[in-house]
Amino acid sequence: MSDILALARPEIVALKAYSHASWDPAYERLHANELPWRAETDRSLAGLNRYPEPHPHELAARLAQLYGVDSPRLLPGRGSDESIDLLVRGFCRAGVDNVVICPPTFGMYAVAARIQGAEVREVPLLRERGFALDTAAVLGACDANTRIVFLCSPNNPTGNSIDAAAIETLLNALAGKALVVIDEAYIEFSRGQSLAGSLDRFPNLVVLRTLSKAYGLAGARVGSLIAAAPIVSLLSKVIPPYSIPQLTIEAVFATLTPVQIRIQRERIAQVLAERERIAAALAASSRVEKLWPSDANFLLADFRDAEWALVATRAEKLLIRDMRSVSPRSLRISVGSPAQNDRLIRSLA
Ligand code: PMP
Repeated sequence: MSDILALARPEIVALKAYSHASWDPAYERLHANELPWRAETDRSLAGLNRYPEPHPHELAARLAQLYGVDSPRLLPGRGSDESIDLLVRGFCRAGVDNVVICPPTFGMYAVAARIQGAEVREVPLLRERGFALDTAAVLGACDANTRIVFLCSPNNPTGNSIDAAAIETLLNALAGKALVVIDEAYIEFSRGQSLAGSLDRFPNLVVLRTLSKAYGLAGARVGSLIAAAPIVSLLSKVIPPYSIPQLTIEAVFATLTPVQIRIQRERIAQVLAERERIAAALAASSRVEKLWPSDANFLLADFRDAEWALVATRAEKLLIRDMRSVSPRSLRISVGSPAQNDRLIRSLA
């Protein structure tokens, strides 16, 4: 057994994977109890009357190529949300193990852990240092039952990237003891390098990527869990077969052509330019107390009167995110289209 699997739930390591109907497109399918005809409305390439590939290897290979990793190190899932869920289900024993999170951060780490019955330990990011990671405090919070430390870089909702040296310190200190999960949902909007290239150095590293943000496929639900091959094999026993719908698989291949990728990159550049335009307007506004620097496609701002800003944007039929749980006057604003951003700036003027 791989060393890293010593951290996983023993019953999942021992689990025999579900035996799904065999997958061989060279044969006609009389083995999966499907209907032989498409629905009249079916515009898919493969036919929605057929199950999709149980574990979509071509999709995994395409995503692995996109992220520059070997295919056996990538598990596609229904968004990073599912990757997070798979990790806690595969590694945390209910009522025994714990995870460490660094708030303010993405809410699903804690929710997934609690659904699994794992304890959630919170080590806040250091607000006075621009929401930097408190490496010593994270290590202080870990014990023999810590299975996962979740980090998000760039972090949602604060927008800052986590210092790579601090992450490496944690990876080294927790080698053989816990997984360190780096959620890179917003990395395409930053100048940062993905840690996916460092898997050889850190067997306890897990990187999460998603097509929901920079690739504009939030509605298709496609995330990638990138980790040592034994972790990917283990969690592919936990993910249900046929979990990625056929329409989603086809949407990914249509979107990840060289031409479309170039278009997406131009859109990222446009988002960054618009982010700077909104940031300049907010920074100049007497209504904004503090604007936090962002490496993502959103901005976190502390308003003098957050309630006023929520009402003013709603009056313009715009939703922005109430983050008053982060600090009493914080709101998070996603970068929209130029026309939406004009309305946003006008509503907050
Ligand atoms: N991670 C972070 C940091 C996020 O902000 C989000 C979505 N808001 C997700 C993961 C979930 O992404 P997905 O759509 O891939 O499930």
